[in-house]
Amino acid sequence: MKIHEVNATSMCPIGGKLLPKAFPSEVICHCLIIESEEGLILIDTGLSLESLHEPQDRLGLLNLMLDVQAEPEKAMINQIRKLGFSPRDVRHIIPTHLDNDHCEGIIDFPLAKVHTSMLEINNARNPISINAKARYRHFHEHRNWKIHPFTQGENWFGFKGVKAIDSLKDELLLIPLYGHTPGHFGVAVKSDQGWLLHAGDAYYDRKELSANPPLGMKLFMKMVHENPSKAQENVELLKKLHTKQPEIKIMCSHDPSEYPCLCQH
Ligand SMILES: [Zn+2]
Repeated sequence: MKIHEVNATSMCPIGGKLLPKAFPSEVICHCLIIESEEGLILIDTGLSLESLHEPQDRLGLLNLMLDVQAEPEKAMINQIRKLGFSPRDVRHIIPTHLDNDHCEGIIDFPLAKVHTSMLEINNARNPISINAKARYRHFHEHRNWKIHPFTQGENWFGFKGVKAIDSLKDELLLIPLYGHTPGHFGVAVKSDQGWLLHAGDAYYDRKELSANPPLGMKLFMKMVHENPSKAQENVELLKKLHTKQPEIKIMCSHDPSEYPCLCQH
């Protein structure tokens, strides 16, 4: 499988403007476009074309926090066209979770099958906590979900409950990394260059894989993770993977220092 890396949305969050030493001032939405025998597969989409045209009108309060850059050329649908494909070539979309910045772009691909976990979609459809109500305010339904129950699974380098997507055999694995949201998962993709693990929002800053994050970042993570202690367990597993299997490339969604990942990490 051939992997293309794209930044499908750039944001300048308010935290970075107020406290630039503690928070990042620029974040990206690092997504993958995979050429497979089944057509194109997207791992995360970033925001939709419409939101990237007019982020203030579409996202309101959320945009005050994130300051999404109005750059429609970065929308996933335009990145697909730039590579010479048609949006109709996209067969599968696998968002790591259902936060807007990871999946709102699914509305630009009504024909694609969108994979998510039972836990994640239940939480998005019936948000209970204040945090969940806020994060899924812009959640959109889709007409072609593939909902994975994750009742059983295999082990993969210390990660448990790992599922393959049937038709894609063992080249694409969903790795439960619950904590940021209740059904958040990572996606491991096998290409000619070996395994690449897209860890979504399991961590935010590459430095988390080798050291403890600064206090500001720890506070931020307490705010954004639904279950911070579970999220920390995932970071420990990722650190171990990074040390013991350095040949496996690991990336998260938002750290610009990891973009592109396949060339440098
Ligand atoms: Zn995110």
